[in-house]
Amino acid sequence: MLKSKASPISLEQRNATRLRVLEHIRTKGAVPRIEIASALQTSPATVTAATADLISAGLIKEIEGEAQSKSGKRGRPKVLLQLDGQSFLVAGLKIARQMISIILVDFEGNEVTSHKFPLDNARMSPTDFVSTIQKALEETCAKIDGSVEQLAGVSIGVAGQVDASRNFVHWSSSITERNVDFRGLLSNQLPCPAFIENDANLVAKAEQLFGLGKGLKNFLVVTIEHGVGLGIILDGKLYRGKRGCGAEFGHTKVQLDGALCQCGQRGCLEAYVGDYALIREMTVTGQNNELKTVSDIHDRAISGNERAASVLARAGQMFGLGVSNLINLFDPECIIVSGTQKSFEHLCTDEVMARIRNGVICVDAALPEIRVHHWGDLMWAKGAAAYGIEQISILKVKELAANAT
Ligand SMILES: [Zn+2]
Repeated sequence: MLKSKASPISLEQRNATRLRVLEHIRTKGAVPRIEIASALQTSPATVTAATADLISAGLIKEIEGEAQSKSGKRGRPKVLLQLDGQSFLVAGLKIARQMISIILVDFEGNEVTSHKFPLDNARMSPTDFVSTIQKALEETCAKIDGSVEQLAGVSIGVAGQVDASRNFVHWSSSITERNVDFRGLLSNQLPCPAFIENDANLVAKAEQLFGLGKGLKNFLVVTIEHGVGLGIILDGKLYRGKRGCGAEFGHTKVQLDGALCQCGQRGCLEAYVGDYALIREMTVTGQNNELKTVSDIHDRAISGNERAASVLARAGQMFGLGVSNLINLFDPECIIVSGTQKSFEHLCTDEVMARIRNGVICVDAALPEIRVHHWGDLMWAKGAAAYGIEQISILKVKELAANAT
């Protein structure tokens, strides 16, 4: 049998070029071929071949643009390339404790519709988890008179340790079992490719693509809700670690044999800072059982409740300790504290900032900026959709490569 002349390396290179061209068009909007070649420092012929492939895959399209002559007068029309926004419908989901937030976006990331699907149980078996996702998607697609069959891909964000490269969940507070391989479960239930990723990584992706991390090369995103998460962008790329178990900021230890964490260990940061820890601390004596959210605790503290004030103050101190450790480890351009709740005041007090300054190794340079970003409820789902678009792009380009050999 004759072997293909194309070596695996040349295929990889062709795919890499196609993805770089696609990424450039995504960043710049409508752009002529010659500018892509110049920006990517490659030949116009290479760009022409890559764009022809991307057009045939339905990822981009040609439009007629208007060139400006040097004198500022209208020049003759020229061909520009831009994403084919209508080509694919992608779903982003965030699995939280009480609900699934879903957003449907087109290939350019524009919202088509969104939905909230309430959950009866915060923790589900792997099969229930997947069938619940299916139901949530059906309801969402029905809002645009569509069906799940129309989706090009589904991206799912969960808390916990996730090996995104193989849809494997080591552990998640949303799932009753450990070490779950979701590849078969998802492909049996859903008619399109599905991708699972750690939710904090998805928020980092969202901050990078359309949030406060835009244009930054090295930054950290700390997410605070039920638990505490971290997304790491290093040199423009998401850092996941070897097993997908990295960036577990919430489970770094801040107290020897300290408070019990939901992961089963003691002294983790999130056992002092996560929403569940604050509510547990307020209700541990059987009192204050009506408190359901951190906002409720803030209201108590404002009305003079000493216990509420001290629980929030301790969370702030632990958070400051943790952030100073992050700065010592990464020296990032910026740390973005990201979340949907409106109750981060206790993490941004003068005392917390002093704790951070005192914990960071002392040099004659300003500390990295710490910025708080209050997102809407769909923050996590938007991040998931952004990741889904990226993964669909990679899949479609791989299909091109397979067809070409
Ligand atoms: Zn823990």
